[in-house]
Amino acid sequence: VSLSQPPSRPSGSLSDKNVYDWSSEEEEPDGRARPIQVLLVKDDHTFELDEVALSRILLAEEVRDREVVAISVAGAFRKGKSFLMDFMLRYMYKHASEDWLGDADEPLTGFSWRGGSERETTGIQIWSEVFLVDKPDGRKVAVLLMDTQGTFDSQSTLRDSATVFALSTMISSMQVYNISQNVQEDDLQHLQVTNTVKHLMRADFKPNKKSIYSMIFLVRDWSFPYEFPYGQEGGMKFLEKRLKISENQHEELQNVRKHIHSCFTNISCFLMPHPGLKVATNPHFDGRIIEIDGEFINNLKVLVPWLLSPRNIDVKEINGSKITCRGLVEYFKAYIKIYQGEELPHPKSMLQVRFLHLLKGPVCGGDRPFLAPSELQARHGAIREEALQVFRGVKKMGGEEFSRRYLQQLEGEVDEVFVQYIKHNDSKNIFHAARTPATLFVVIFV
Ligand code: GDP
Ligand code: MG
Repeated sequence: VSLSQPPSRPSGSLSDKNVYDWSSEEEEPDGRARPIQVLLVKDDHTFELDEVALSRILLAEEVRDREVVAISVAGAFRKGKSFLMDFMLRYMYKHASEDWLGDADEPLTGFSWRGGSERETTGIQIWSEVFLVDKPDGRKVAVLLMDTQGTFDSQSTLRDSATVFALSTMISSMQVYNISQNVQEDDLQHLQVTNTVKHLMRADFKPNKKSIYSMIFLVRDWSFPYEFPYGQEGGMKFLEKRLKISENQHEELQNVRKHIHSCFTNISCFLMPHPGLKVATNPHFDGRIIEIDGEFINNLKVLVPWLLSPRNIDVKEINGSKITCRGLVEYFKAYIKIYQGEELPHPKSMLQVRFLHLLKGPVCGGDRPFLAPSELQARHGAIREEALQVFRGVKKMGGEEFSRRYLQQLEGEVDEVFVQYIKHNDSKNIFHAARTPATLFVVIFV
């Protein structure tokens, strides 16, 4: 999980570009890092979260309790996202060193970026290796790279894409919105997602503690550098103009702009030049720098550290709390649940859904034999403590104060259940066991 050597393709031939299998159901053939599909939108528009894959990556011992920086690059297919992300990976694998860009004739590897044959799957992929990075202040954080893609082309897919986009925005600390040539009205419309998202993103239980949502518009193939220069400053000026709300705008255009301003805490923009015809059109191009336009490379050298340098990366914050990898898994699951229900729960019961699997069932439930009361008491104590620790260890929406009530409630419920188990256990001493559920779930809504 720490920084090992970047993955490399076995040889440079064209067919090798498809060596990565995107499905996480199959084991990694050689343990190399690769993109893993964690969220998939199926043909019937349902969402499928691969919890096993997600957990395997984010609950690995080295990272699970680290605060997480989640960087997502999102947008439509065939717009150079993977191409960019391969450079981001290079930067991460080279530990942000000066010469991170590597040799001029080194082919690119990582997120397979080749146009053409790849299957177009709407969903979220994450890089299977989480990077541990030392911030200048001495903190070690976990950096996660995500690739969020959708089609945005027809009415039926637009909603899916926008929802996936919103989901990745909510679980990332920075959303890089990759768009081609300009910021079109369409691109802005895609940010105008369902009301559910809007409410979720604004869900402030405590007005003084907010969630931070950062958005960077990354414009590829920018072709008006004389008007707004490449890079971040030109980008900001351009974006200001583009997002300006004016009286004589159509109401709908005004609304989109208001929505964007209200949802995102930080908004910025970076204008990227065209990488050159070899990149855009030559099917034999394998990503080597020598064949990429110098202007593109110069801006890449600014863009990638701007996005990823240890001083610039920010830990994900929700309701004023920094989130760990473990916490991110919980949020991911909770958000998906809300989408699957597609209704907006009441704020008090909303969001943090925490399952505590108190495995008392296997200890004394069902047809387990009678346990000596002292043994039952001991096991209860251990499991109770474990449950409470899980609860305390997870950052909860609404803050500490708000969740204290629920902690007390949990303690109460656990103790109540224990009384039941004592009775149940006792009954086995004399009579045959009555069946009880093998596993007890305590669900807490905070
Ligand atoms: P993705 O589907 O968004 O991940 O796009 P890919 O990274 O797979 O790139 C799709 C195609 O666009 C490939 O043939 C790349 O060589 C090419 N490409 C990559 N970056 C750029 C860019 O900045 N501009 C243009 N015009 N093409 C690019
Ligand atoms: Mg791609």
